[in-house]
Amino acid sequence: MHFETSTPVDTAWQAEALCAQTGADFFFPEPGSSVREAKRICGLCEMRTACLDFALANDERFGVWGGLSEKERLQLRRTSY
Ligand code: SF4
Repeated sequence: MHFETSTPVDTAWQAEALCAQTGADFFFPEPGSSVREAKRICGLCEMRTACLDFALANDERFGVWGGLSEKERLQLRRTSY
């Protein structure tokens, strides 16, 4: 599981997170390596929306959250605000 934040927000969804079962390796790939597998798992995860909301709300800068890479989240933030 790759949730290490101490931010006091709603984290109940993490109990259902698919990545909690697969391990964090896919979600924090080495720089330049593929995030395809992480995205595939996110695509199957029912908590995807809550996960992405959490990552955006907490400004998570590293790893894949809610099916989006750090670059994609950055782009989303830029177009949303
Ligand atoms: S959307 Fe992806 S990163 Fe988020 S909880 Fe699900 S599997 Fe984990």
